[in-house]
Amino acid sequence: ARALRQLELEADLRAALELGVAPSVPGPRRRADAEPEGQLFLDYQPCFDPQDGRMVACEALLRWRHPTRGLLSPGAFLDVAEERALMVPLGAWVLRAACAQAARWWHAFGDEAPEVWVNVSAGQMGRDRFPQRVREVLDETGLPARLLVVELTERQALTLSDGVLADLRALEGMGVRLAIDDFGTGYAGLDYLRKLPVHVLKLDGSYVAAIGRDSSGTALAATVVALGRALDLTVVAEGIETAEQRAAVQDFGVDLLQGYLLARPGPVEQVERLVARQAATG
Ligand code: C2E
Ligand code: MG
Ligand code: MG
Ligand code: MG
Repeated sequence: ARALRQLELEADLRAALELGVAPSVPGPRRRADAEPEGQLFLDYQPCFDPQDGRMVACEALLRWRHPTRGLLSPGAFLDVAEERALMVPLGAWVLRAACAQAARWWHAFGDEAPEVWVNVSAGQMGRDRFPQRVREVLDETGLPARLLVVELTERQALTLSDGVLADLRALEGMGVRLAIDDFGTGYAGLDYLRKLPVHVLKLDGSYVAAIGRDSSGTALAATVVALGRALDLTVVAEGIETAEQRAAVQDFGVDLLQGYLLARPGPVEQVERLVARQAATG
């Protein structure tokens, strides 16, 4: 049954990718490309600076409006994409759509525009001239490289090939930053942090959830934040759901906050409302 489901999802995803790919070059002014007609789309979850409450970034999160199964979260189909060699075209679609959207924000809002943070899979890199493709997307969309952050999970960051590492260095050379996602879930040494061109650590939500549960949960979260700060990295706490958690991570000194308490992942309009409110109130 599982194999059959996988095969069906694979076929459906191939079809969705053909439908979902934007026709050609989504230039910043071509509003018609804003939401490529199709089953795939991106939600954006804001990320805030606790110092001044500003939304500084938005994380692009992939969604699939499946014709018969309904709305699917990435957890329901990314493994199929990964196993069936669809991660490269799927990731390319996400990157292009997210950068095109962020470029529109940049053209519309200037300095108020949020950065865009894009989840990538290691399987997308180390082949197919990934950095050149990122360069092309930036050039075609007009998005400045400093507004793009690439997120890679710690689990994947632990076992990178030389090719992927070279690609990450090339991205850094272009001014694109790297975030380690789900930090603290890789169960391994920290040596890789010295090898990779890392700029951001995203403390996994499980650490945030452990705050207040017992003294060791709180101590662990505090220690991981302190580690990131000692390495001079931007530290983000993800998965903040309660005011208590927010107060605690701010106390530990995290740089940025993300979670349902502040904002759920949502459509482009949510981001634009926030930017507008921010511009109006300073
Ligand atoms: P992630 O990158 O760690 O993203 C955070 C996930 O936690 C998202 O789930 C988000 O909706 C959810 N979340 C945010 N705030 C809270 C909160 O306060 N509480 C709780 N319980 N959850 C919260 P989502 O959208 O289902 O994505 C799951 C994972 O799928 C992501 O984890 C990311 O690793 C992966 N993913 C999503 N989009 C893409 C993509 O375009 N490409 C790749 N390669 N992976 C993606
Ligand atoms: Mg992420
Ligand atoms: Mg994460
Ligand atoms: Mg997570």
